[in-house]
Amino acid sequence: MLTRSDLRGGVPGPAELRAMLPRAEMNVDAVVEKVRPILDDVRDRGVDAVLEYGERFDGVRSESVRVPTTALHEALEGVDPQVRAALETSIERARAVHADQRRTDSTTQVVPGGTVTERWVPVSRVGLYAPGGLAVYPSSVVMNVVPAQAAGVEGLVVCSPPQREFGGRPHPLILAAAALLGVDEVWAVGGAQAVALLAYGGVDTEAADGVLLEPVDMVTGPGNVYVTAAKRTLRGRIGIDSEAGTTEIAILADATADPIHVAADLISQAEHDPAAASVLVTTSPELADAVDAELVTQVGTTKHDERIRTALSGPQSGTILVADLDAGVRVVDAYAAEHLEIQTAEASAVAARVRNAGAIFVGPHSPVSLGDYCAGSNHVLPTGGCARHSSGLSVQTFLRGIHVVDYSADALREVADRVVALAEAEDLPAHGQAVAARFGTRRSYPGTG
Ligand code: NAD
Repeated sequence: MLTRSDLRGGVPGPAELRAMLPRAEMNVDAVVEKVRPILDDVRDRGVDAVLEYGERFDGVRSESVRVPTTALHEALEGVDPQVRAALETSIERARAVHADQRRTDSTTQVVPGGTVTERWVPVSRVGLYAPGGLAVYPSSVVMNVVPAQAAGVEGLVVCSPPQREFGGRPHPLILAAAALLGVDEVWAVGGAQAVALLAYGGVDTEAADGVLLEPVDMVTGPGNVYVTAAKRTLRGRIGIDSEAGTTEIAILADATADPIHVAADLISQAEHDPAAASVLVTTSPELADAVDAELVTQVGTTKHDERIRTALSGPQSGTILVADLDAGVRVVDAYAAEHLEIQTAEASAVAARVRNAGAIFVGPHSPVSLGDYCAGSNHVLPTGGCARHSSGLSVQTFLRGIHVVDYSADALREVADRVVALAEAEDLPAHGQAVAARFGTRRSYPGTG
């Protein structure tokens, strides 16, 4: 079922390897041009444009973009008790893990009387995107809100697409998750238009009291290629987390792996999106055959079989045969998967050698689905190879380190000559003068007054 490549004869260097590995055809750059007019329109026409795009892409016009707080509490009251208990477990575990990520300020005494402090300050207002196109993701509300709250962010707004069957409000589970987490600002808006409204703000003219939708400083959260392209385009005006786009799973497996588990895990991530990527890297052709057979059997029994078949047969999915685990590690490092499972003998030792992955799931009892909901880890992770340079969502995402420089007169005097020397070497003598002026030793330069 999966297209197969054979690298048992040798693995090329990382750049060549990256170019030949399976990856989504629909690249974010191509979609940037499609979303740009949407972003400009929302900047110029605000909520009116947002409501029109909701009609066009989500098939419903919301009564108002801002969801009334009462609707959040009503949604929570209506949640199935088992789902509520599961959400509570997910929140509790994520809070435990993210609480341990908090950073403390550090002060270095560079010289007597001269200190540099790194002060960690949370972003003031953030927009958290919870997808809601092909599936709804209350779990993404948890994964966004928990680290933001642990970081101390004061202004939180959750955005999720309006749903036709719920009268243009986000899915009730999104509202319930927000209520459980103590977030009361939720907007019914999805896709690129959500990222634009978060970045530019607007006035909800349809709301009875014309509520002001205040722009945010940062947008985080996963989404499809339109959301990802919008985040990439508006980066700079707003901060973003990693590009957490269409889901990917890579599994590094040897002959000890259970093909039933491997196939089930590849399918579980293909279920997200027809553009999702499922990649198996293995030393065992027998395992690859057994996984293919299992995929055929298991896909037929799944609910979203068509979406899964499309994802598994797309150019972004495939099996790669390698000669040994060393070669396998080089391949998964070049691929830099959002989710990487290690299903080999001595899986922990193999995992410790991997350098590039959004998150690593070790051994037979740590499937990606556990991380999607209840491991305590964050499921908002970099895709498209961004794991080579970016991390998943964490408390750190929402903090900025501000350097606070505090020198006394003596401490400045002690280093003044050095500052002047470097300033002159860079032909920026006014820099040196700014120090010299404090000690009455300003120089004048020929030809100046
Ligand atoms: P979504 O909320 O991301 O996207 C839905 C929105 O897309 C709609 O509201 C609509 O405005 C917009 N849209 C749809 N078609 C469009 C078009 N032709 N032109 C412009 N805009 C259009 O929901 P989704 O589609 O279900 O996607 C969720 C994605 O999030 C999946 O790809 C999933 O794999 C991914 N995901 C990633 C992570 C991660 O951490 N990387 C985590 C969870 C989910």
